[in-house]
Formats: sequence, structure tokens, C-alpha cells
Amino acid sequence: LSFSDLHLDKQITSALTAAGYETPTPVQLESIPAVLNNQDVMVSAQTGSGKTAAFLLPTLQKLLKRSEKSGKGPRALVLTPTRELAQQVEKNAQIYGKNMPWLRTVTLVGGTAFGQQIRALARPIDLIVATPGRLMDHMRQGRIDFGRLEVLILDEADRMLDMGFIDDIETIVAATPAERQTLLFSATWDGMVGKLAQKLTNQPQKIDI
Ligand code: AMP
Repeated sequence: LSFSDLHLDKQITSALTAAGYETPTPVQLESIPAVLNNQDVMVSAQTGSGKTAAFLLPTLQKLLKRSEKSGKGPRALVLTPTRELAQQVEKNAQIYGKNMPWLRTVTLVGGTAFGQQIRALARPIDLIVATPGRLMDHMRQGRIDFGRLEVLILDEADRMLDMGFIDDIETIVAATPAERQTLLFSATWDGMVGKLAQKLTNQPQKIDI
């Protein structure tokens, strides 16, 4: 099976070809159809499995459709445990979205200047990649309207909880529309992360690689 067999748009598949991707990895083969089918997913996948593209590719595909809602807030949000992972996710979104020049993304992470982030948030934005703490800083200042959020993604959810982000995550999720689609990625569902998954998802498809 190829990426175009997964019903990804030519704009996306040609960016993948340019990046040297030939065939989808197992986690991509399972996740992409489920996400395009508007299902919530709980995916157990390790770093190196291709999990980033597993959530970014179908999310970008959704962003190709016009938003049905007005406003300038993000249509997709990726939460990650660390600054490095957030920057990597945004970099991949730029690679996969190379033929979507209108796509606006921003990374909101600690240890970086606020100025550029504030300017980016003053304009319409499609995709935010953030660590919970810095995202909360911007939310407290009223800079983010989640009214048109369609897709919420938690990457390495277990690590975010290990790092003590549970309260921030609950506050962030409570600010998003209930009818959103939720994609959870985690190495394990044991303990607190399993409880969180139950709370955040609606009849999720469980994908185990
Ligand atoms: P990840 O598990 O998301 O950190 O991805 C691991 C590495 O695999 C990254 O360097 C990706 O660019 C690369 N990658 C992801 N999917 C594919 C694919 N289908 N074909 C080739 N490389 C890929």
C-alpha cells in the first residue's frame, strides 16, 4: 500500500516523495485511515515508528478543507512533553506541508522569546505545536481562541504526565470544543495515562504496533 492508497491528497504525497518516503510504516497504515474517518485514536507507538507522520499527515489532509467556523484560532493542536520534540514536530509539519504555502504553524515552547510567538498568535493560525506550560502562559493572556479547533493531539502522553503536566492538560482540553477529534499517542496506557485517555476520547480506535 502506498500513501496515495490511503487517500492522501497529491499535495501531501508529492511532499512525501520529495522527502524520500516511499511507503507508509505500520503505525501510519493503521492510523491514517482511522483519523481520516474522523475517529478518535489511542496509538501505542515508539519513537522511530513514524508516529509523527501518523498524526500529522491526516491532520494536514483535514486542513486542506476550509474551516466551517470563522475566527483565527488554531484548527489543530499538538501537545508534546519537550521543546525539542515540539520543534521536531513543527519541522515535520513544514516538510509534509511544503505544497501548502498558506499553512501557518507556530511552536510555543518554554525557554524561547515571547515576541515572535505573540505576533504569530495575532494572525490566523492553522496548527500550534506546544508544550503545556508555555501554551498555558499564552492562554492566560487571552491570546488563544480554540473555537475552531478540530483536532487535538497528545504526543508522548505518558511522558507529559510523568513530567507533571496533568493539570495543565486538563485545563487546555477544557478550553477546546467537545466535538473535536482527539488523537492520543503513548508508549503505555497503564495508570494515569489510561484514565486520561478514557476522559479525553470518544469510542477511540486502539492501535497497537
Ligand atoms: P518518528 O517515529 O515520527 O520520530 O519518525 C522516525 C523517523 O522516520 C523520522 O526521521 C521520519 O522522518 C522518518 N519517517 C517517518 N515515516 C516514514 C516513512 N513512511 N518512510 C520513510 N521515513 C519515514
